[in-house]
Amino acid sequence: MILRQISQSHLTLLDYCPRKFQHVYLEQLSFPLSMQEQAALKRGSDLHHLMQQQELHLLPPVNPTPPSWSPETVKLYQMAHQLATVIPKPSESTRFRQSEYRLHYEIEGMLLTVVYDLLMLTDTHAYIVDWKTYSRPPQQAELATHWQTKLYPFVLAATSEYRPSDITLSYWFMQISGNSSGSSSGSPSGSPSDQPDQATDVTAIAPDLQPDCIRFEHSDRHQHQVHHDLIQTIRRLKQWLADYETGIALPQTDRIQERCPRCPFAFRCGRSHPSASDQWTDLDNIEAIAEIPLPDGSLKDEFLRNEWLKDKLPQDELPQDELPQDESLRLE
Ligand code: SF4
Repeated sequence: MILRQISQSHLTLLDYCPRKFQHVYLEQLSFPLSMQEQAALKRGSDLHHLMQQQELHLLPPVNPTPPSWSPETVKLYQMAHQLATVIPKPSESTRFRQSEYRLHYEIEGMLLTVVYDLLMLTDTHAYIVDWKTYSRPPQQAELATHWQTKLYPFVLAATSEYRPSDITLSYWFMQISGNSSGSSSGSPSGSPSDQPDQATDVTAIAPDLQPDCIRFEHSDRHQHQVHHDLIQTIRRLKQWLADYETGIALPQTDRIQERCPRCPFAFRCGRSHPSASDQWTDLDNIEAIAEIPLPDGSLKDEFLRNEWLKDKLPQDELPQDELPQDESLRLE
């Protein structure tokens, strides 16, 4: 497979484990997400759509929200409203402002692509804004090393007249509490038991929805460092891709204990827990394995099927919170 276009997701996974990069992007293998992970992804996608609609003045003026809306839908509207009050406001010096803005930059024969949740340009400054639908932001020092933090201001500085020191990147973190995971969001629906008792004022400050911000000021030093890191990473990737064409697999991470046990490719990689692999390889005794009765008729319903399957799994295999347990997939 020829890879010509890369994003921060590619680079993040490449740093995490080159072999996993191979499985996901070169072999295009996928793996099922848990219900909690699907709900978290949908919530993030819904909030991004709401914020984009808000920027385009397409968000219907709903206030108060209808009592029939689910608590999660109401919270999404509250989140969108509260985020709108804290992000940079247009002023007389604003020259450009757009959500979901895409930029490309070619380096070492690869096309780098970034997508800004919001980009605002003034006469003297450029503001990049990114929203995350989870709380507990990582430490600033940790977030500073993430490819998204490095690439977003780098690509803007490399493709515009703004100096690196003119560019600010802000992350805004906000989370809906997890008790509604798996429920519908982003649409005015919900089961009767989910529904709030009364209409909600979306402009009221919700104490449990306080946005949390981490801000980065770019600089010439960062610009040079990111440029250097990118060249090194892309050259290494190109060598691995050339090797892969000759049948040599990309390297596996050496952080085995930390990363492999939870990885969906552990069995494929020969890094699964011995007891787990035994269950798959010892098929000589398949006749001795007891059949598991399935609940009547419920398998037609995917939600019920997953709930039933979860009951059958050991509890320590279940996701512990709403965030994707696979840390290589976070901060997307
Ligand atoms: S099991 Fe380990 S080595 Fe294999 S893809 Fe996953 S993280 Fe990488």
